[in-house]
Amino acid sequence: MHVIYGGTFDPIHHGHLRLAVELRERLGVPEVSLMPCHVPPHRDQPGATSEQRVALLKLAIADEPGLALDDRELGRDGASYTAETLRQVRAELGPHEPLTMVLGTDSFAGFDRWQEWQRIPELAHIVVVRRPGPGLAPGSVPERLLQERRVDSVEALYGAPCGHILELDPPLLDISATGVRERILSGRSPRYLLPDSVWQEIRHRRLYGA
Ligand code: ATP
Repeated sequence: MHVIYGGTFDPIHHGHLRLAVELRERLGVPEVSLMPCHVPPHRDQPGATSEQRVALLKLAIADEPGLALDDRELGRDGASYTAETLRQVRAELGPHEPLTMVLGTDSFAGFDRWQEWQRIPELAHIVVVRRPGPGLAPGSVPERLLQERRVDSVEALYGAPCGHILELDPPLLDISATGVRERILSGRSPRYLLPDSVWQEIRHRRLYGA
């Protein structure tokens, strides 16, 4: 099974990295691919360039063979749409290999505003990671989609190439990239929220107002 965990990673922090390790173990895969997005269509512009975010991500996973970088969305001009990306990955994997994309509940709540969202379950499974917050609105499209496609075990994901939705509830660290950026900008220390190598590089390159 191929597992993609996408995000802005602006910058990558221990919340992301711990989740990636938990996912690797819970989903029973040798590797989880972290996929930074180029121009995120659904949020404000990030605080570092794509190249800078990737450089930080590479440092963060340098000595962890279970985490990989997939920077394919950065090679494309303009917005990266998940359906398009998954189509590309699916073409590489062939029709039978299970493919899974990971989303937080906050992202999945707006799923029906994504370009070609109906195509996505035809390309991949979705793992929805429960995050603190309001959750899915009852009767909303994402909530109905979850009811229709929900499975209760990881094994079910291995039984089909795509189409299932699994909710997971791994322990999450209370860290956000916004909080990290705010600390750096206001001259407070973000230490221990992110790897030291990443913080060093942020200072070296004077990113986020460091
Ligand atoms: P920002 O604060 O800028 O919104 P973020 O820290 O939420 O950033 P993103 O790059 O937007 O990071 O997140 C990528 C993915 O990681 C999303 O699916 C999000 O739900 C998830 N995520 C973010 N922070 C954490 C965390 N502390 N623990 C687990 N998952 C997280």
